[in-house]
Amino acid sequence: MMNYESGMMKSSGTSAGVTTRWRVIDSIVEAEVLLRNAGVTDTSRLEAEVLLADTLAVSHAKLIASYTDYLGAEERAEYLSRIARRLRGEPVAYITGRKEFMGFTFRIDRRALIPRPETETLVEHVVEQVRSSERRTTYIVDIGAGSGCIAISLALLLPGATIHAVDISENAISLARLNAAEHRVSERVAFYIGDLCSCLPDALRGSIDVIVSNPPYVTDAEYPALESGVREFEPMVALKGGADGLDLFRRITAVAREYLKAGALLAVEIGENQADEALKILRRAEHFTEMRIIHDLAGRHRVITGRKTE
Ligand code: GLN
Repeated sequence: MMNYESGMMKSSGTSAGVTTRWRVIDSIVEAEVLLRNAGVTDTSRLEAEVLLADTLAVSHAKLIASYTDYLGAEERAEYLSRIARRLRGEPVAYITGRKEFMGFTFRIDRRALIPRPETETLVEHVVEQVRSSERRTTYIVDIGAGSGCIAISLALLLPGATIHAVDISENAISLARLNAAEHRVSERVAFYIGDLCSCLPDALRGSIDVIVSNPPYVTDAEYPALESGVREFEPMVALKGGADGLDLFRRITAVAREYLKAGALLAVEIGENQADEALKILRRAEHFTEMRIIHDLAGRHRVITGRKTE
């Protein structure tokens, strides 16, 4: 890190006794080159800009409009420390502490998995299904809520929904609570720490309209091949799903039938090669009908759904 920092200082023309000023654009280009050379990302320019916009607490558009402005020494130091974290592989969302999901901004840190764009397929499907059901109140359980991005997006998009969000990680739930408070949906999202539905009130059995989940589904064999930023920084418990990645899905199908009403929806995110096996599991669990695999816009299998039989 020392080499790179002193490299940056040199290229900025610092000399004793002179007040150093760094142009925004020059700092971006230097960071871009460092990120590219380190091979941590394919989008080095974008990340260099996102991290500087975040450092300066301005929008991306504002940053671009101020390329020829100068950074203060503190801003420059803060930017360098963020770039240094990225060079060590830390994901951008953990550095900025924020991530967009479904058009909403969530607070993110190492307590939970970073929301992925592919999970929007799951949320969009549930929203569509609930809206077309014309029910005035909908009771939803989110298993493995993580940062709360699914549960909170559903609460924001479905004003008639009450959500019970569960996670086995106390850390994840503390972050999810913060996100719910920031989005002002705490009254409609209840949080529980525990394994699957074990901590939900008994009264919920047989009364849930939707169970939604993005469980850990990376297989034991795939896990070591994940990007190092994912492996080293994101919680393993949110990613690893056993030998075929479907351990949690098997357990979810088993409890789902106890909590869902007749006709209610189960919607679970799966890995792109898991559709056939997931369908078999759901079929074997009995009690489910209308089984479907939902694709994302690129045609990849993303979600399995089924409805509880009458
Ligand atoms: N799609 C995620 C990844 O590959 C996995 C998320 C999960 O296991 N739920 O990083």
